[in-house]
Amino acid sequence: MNLLTVNDQPGAYPPSWYAATATPLPAFAPLQGATRADVCIVGAGYTGLSAALHLAERGFDVVVLEAQRVGWGASGRNGGQVGSGQRREQDDLEAMLGMNDARHLWNLAEEAKTLLHDLIARHDIPAGYRPGIAHACRTTAEVDHARRYAEKLAKDYGYDQVQPVDAARMADLLGTDVYKGGDLDQGAGHVHPLNLALGLARATRARIHERSTVTRLDGTTVHTENGHVQADHVILACNGYLGALEGGVAARVMPINNFIVATEPVPGLMAPVAACDTRFVVNYWRMSDDNRLLFGGGESYGYRFPDIIKTVRKPLLKVYPQLADARIDYAWGGTLAITMNRMPCFRRVARGVLSASGYSGHGVAMATMAGKIMAEAVAGEAGRFDLMARLPQHRFPGGSALRSPLLALAMTWYGLRDRLGL
Ligand SMILES: Cc1cc2nc3c(=O)[nH]c(=O)nc-3n(C[C@H](O)[C@H](O)[C@H](O)COP(=O)(O)OP(=O)(O)OC[C@H]3O[C@@H](n4cnc5c(N)ncnc54)[C@H](O)[C@@H]3O)c2cc1C
Repeated sequence: MNLLTVNDQPGAYPPSWYAATATPLPAFAPLQGATRADVCIVGAGYTGLSAALHLAERGFDVVVLEAQRVGWGASGRNGGQVGSGQRREQDDLEAMLGMNDARHLWNLAEEAKTLLHDLIARHDIPAGYRPGIAHACRTTAEVDHARRYAEKLAKDYGYDQVQPVDAARMADLLGTDVYKGGDLDQGAGHVHPLNLALGLARATRARIHERSTVTRLDGTTVHTENGHVQADHVILACNGYLGALEGGVAARVMPINNFIVATEPVPGLMAPVAACDTRFVVNYWRMSDDNRLLFGGGESYGYRFPDIIKTVRKPLLKVYPQLADARIDYAWGGTLAITMNRMPCFRRVARGVLSASGYSGHGVAMATMAGKIMAEAVAGEAGRFDLMARLPQHRFPGGSALRSPLLALAMTWYGLRDRLGL
């Protein structure tokens, strides 16, 4: 099953609200014939584009090969949430890796947010950043946990941007009273994800080729159907769409699909913050600039997209029953990548070949940061790449044949727990 082609029209963006409202970028020609470069990057999402931008700034001659279009993958389709920290909470990271590495990872994540702001400002990217992510809890135990975690971040990490929020204020912020409270992180925020990707592409001096699927690596020579790039270094930035291109990464990084809809305009529904809740199958949402509700959620574990509207409408109406009659104007899916421990997978896959992926739904800032870290590694400053590559990354059980059914089983179990309110 090839996720580069199975759910989408080749060479076209999905029918998303993002694609409908993006600041367009002229198409880049496919690679034809042979060329040479210092670095060849496979994939033009945040990871690949940020690597390209930072390498070109350092004077490297860079070619980017993208199977479809710039920002066509998860980077052009996601919930746009620029979250704080890593995908795992600091308590977990401290237990897993010790205080020292946990602190490095927190600092790296804070730097990732700063990097995003700098790139947006420096290159005048119309990403429409707005501050605020509300974390909406379903139980009082979760509300207590959120309060304790906010205190911990302030005390141990000097991060004081998270305010506890009670049930009444949460209802006020979100326009729904289904949550018991939670917190509001003013140091986090949200963006137009496709405009961010297109802006990074516009900013880089790298040579970009779209509609250029990489079919094979031969050392650091990268082959497409119609040409090849002979490079000194290769960066794999394929995330959920890697397929079988590199077996060691594929064994540790699992693609899963996720879905978003945009309703007709519903002005005044909620405050201009983004929100996510504490379900295992997480719901995440916000208002668009033109007052639509952009709502992501729903379960599906086959590689083929299901009926997206049906899949997302169900959780949407649990949060906003008043939207039962609201029209859905856009519906799209995307493929992200998760790892066993939900931390990114950085790997030296062969001599001269680096890879970073598996941001586990927390990649808007971290993938952009990963691109910068890989650029540093190519330039001979590998300290931060090595720190990330040291994180334990286990193979998914079942190998490439069984991992998907086993994951489906596990996810269905957790989805059931959500439904039972456990
Ligand atoms: C629906 C959805 C919602 C999400 N919401 C959030 C969110 O709110 N906040 C957050 O932080 N993260 C979120 N994420 C995750 C986030 O989008 C990703 O972590 C991030 O975009 C990863 O960037 P990337 O560049 O590594 O991968 P991608 O953007 O997927 O880019 C990979 C690119 O590689 C190309 N490619 C793959 N194989 C080949 C090949 N063989 N040859 C050439 N090109 C190839 C693909 O075409 C693709 O364009 C979400 C993801 C999805 C799908």
